[in-house]
Amino acid sequence: MTAELVTVARLEAWIRLFADMIADQRAYLTELDSAIGDADHGINMDRGMQAVLAKLDATTVSTADELFKLVGVTLVSSIGGASGPLYGTMFLRFATACGPRAALSADDVVKAFRAGIEGLVARGKPELGDKTMFDTLHPALEALDAAVARGTSPSEAFTSAALAAARGRDATIPLVARKGRASYLGERSVGHQDPGATSAALLFDAAAKTFES
Ligand code: ADP
Ligand code: MG
Repeated sequence: MTAELVTVARLEAWIRLFADMIADQRAYLTELDSAIGDADHGINMDRGMQAVLAKLDATTVSTADELFKLVGVTLVSSIGGASGPLYGTMFLRFATACGPRAALSADDVVKAFRAGIEGLVARGKPELGDKTMFDTLHPALEALDAAVARGTSPSEAFTSAALAAARGRDATIPLVARKGRASYLGERSVGHQDPGATSAALLFDAAAKTFES
């Protein structure tokens, strides 16, 4: 990502686009959760992200840690399901990793994602192949890290991360769920795409689109 800095305005645009994408995909995410869960993932994520939008509309965030703290606290407090504390913890760790800065370097962005995903892992204990959002987030982070190490533009780095995220999401289909509600189904969870892996791919799609121009 060379020397190009990622501004708070861009990061806020990313969060806003993620909220819009979740709203668009709300029914689809809920349909995926109806196959292997309790049919609320789209409802949960949309409730949380709409609450985030409402707070962003009422506040001016000037540093990355303010932005991500707002997102994390709001998701933890407004989502009842497993995804609230998981996404919430990830964003709260982003906040701590970013600190009170108005712009981040590419390396800072990778570090923030790594800290956030480590926080999610500490919270939910997912392992690769458990058929969770981690199956999307982990390969996306590794692709982002590799692209930044090659010195690509933010646009290319997030596009590469979004492709890896999509592959991780699709790879959840044949897996047996080993975490969360879907794990109660055992072998019957095979053949279904994980809802959390699907919303997590939207996070990287939103980043790729935000950094496109
Ligand atoms: P709930 O399962 O409480 O209804 P959601 O439907 O909002 O919550 O979210 C379900 C998603 O959460 C799953 O598709 C999966 O990706 C993710 N998930 C559940 N448990 C875990 C866990 N322990 N670690 C990581 N992700 C998890
Ligand atoms: Mg659910």
